[in-house]
Amino acid sequence: MTLKIYNTMTRTLEEFIPGGVKRDKIEDYAPVSIYSCGPTVYSYAHIGNFRTFVFNDFFRRYLEFRGYKLNQSMNITDVDDKTIAGANRDGVTLGEYTGKYTGIFFEDLKSLNIEEVEHYPRATESIDSMIDILEKINSKGLLYEKEGSLYFSISKYGDYGRLSRVDAREIKSGARYDADEYEKDDVRDFALWKASKKDEPSWETPFGSGRPGWHIECSAMIRKIYNSTIDVHTGGVDLIFPHHENEIAQSEAAYGEKFSRYWIHVEHLLVNGSKMSKSAGNFYTLRDLIEKGFSARSIRFLLLTAHYRKQLNFTLDGLKQAEQALERIDNFIVRLNDVKNFSCENNADSVIENFMESFTDTVDADLNISGGIGVFFDFITKLNSLIDENRLSLNDIDSINSTLELADSVFGFIYMDKQELQVDEEMINALVQERNDAKASKNFARADEIRDTLIDMGIVLEDTKDGTRWKIKK
Ligand SMILES: [Zn+2]
Repeated sequence: MTLKIYNTMTRTLEEFIPGGVKRDKIEDYAPVSIYSCGPTVYSYAHIGNFRTFVFNDFFRRYLEFRGYKLNQSMNITDVDDKTIAGANRDGVTLGEYTGKYTGIFFEDLKSLNIEEVEHYPRATESIDSMIDILEKINSKGLLYEKEGSLYFSISKYGDYGRLSRVDAREIKSGARYDADEYEKDDVRDFALWKASKKDEPSWETPFGSGRPGWHIECSAMIRKIYNSTIDVHTGGVDLIFPHHENEIAQSEAAYGEKFSRYWIHVEHLLVNGSKMSKSAGNFYTLRDLIEKGFSARSIRFLLLTAHYRKQLNFTLDGLKQAEQALERIDNFIVRLNDVKNFSCENNADSVIENFMESFTDTVDADLNISGGIGVFFDFITKLNSLIDENRLSLNDIDSINSTLELADSVFGFIYMDKQELQVDEEMINALVQERNDAKASKNFARADEIRDTLIDMGIVLEDTKDGTRWKIKK
């Protein structure tokens, strides 16, 4: 069983080898370096953005599940045309403006149960690394200046377009180029650094004052954090050209080494079959959907149900179906922890083993989470049959609960929203004692009654040879 990932750069499914050198055991790899293009914090992120962010989270969780260590970053673009325009419109500083939307963004990540990553670099805190790239590109003769702005010369670089495979003539004709209001020699060239303008924040550099172009921000943050080739770069498919193509050109030109070993791109999200747009009335932020009464949990679930390399058609009906699917999981967990007739034999071991094997095999094939969710529902169906047939032992229930926890370390939607239960330990211990006394005096009716009371309180009991244990039902 090895993890294979589709690499946009080579257009093939490749074995995942962090660091580029195969090791005997997953534990032997150095932490996997992953950089994910994050949000530009000028407004609320929409549900299409969150498809990519939820995918990044699943990717992270799956690597952890497989035993990899992680060193992941997601940047915050806090200076660009949109953030500057927004700050000027609201009459606040750029920092105040982006601070507000950065805060909102982190709240949304939390609502969607997205794990924290190791680094959240800000563009405005990485100017020194941008200057380093500018100087290196300049020393290679690939940089030129026009009216105070600095451009990257694609014709002199000569190795442009490997990721997107965009035809150079197509770019040259202007059909696809990096829209930019500034003057440049060649329509393909892109701005590395923009001349300072009135009412815009600017930073001093050896080349004069100005502000960064968007593409250089990611290259600079990656260099600052990792200082070498990274393992994986992720983002939405819309970033392949020109953003990621430009990142590769400027980083590889500056440092003369491979920029990223693997490129993973998440397909578009459509709403009701068409591209999301405010004018079409199918534009949703996370908060729009929560206001309509949908749970962040069902949104997370739905965003994970399509393979990341396929378009996902997001509909409100789809969200309702997601809620029903989650209800199936919840009902199963209640049934599981409510079993009263225990088998003396363990009958779940092989079902658990088959699930773990099949789940890993499925997801190992290009991060097929949708397939993995299907395998999980088959698992629940099989366990429901074992419950129907009274074939689960106490040990089985323990093992199943542990397996659910493990599966949820990847899914993040099984136990999401389950409130932390406040428990009165003294009272529970007293009830457990009373139940033991009832059993000792053969008053089984009373013992069962107490057990049911505890279940209603969210407490499950385990009768072991060392006495009765209790725990909070997840
Ligand atoms: Zn980026």
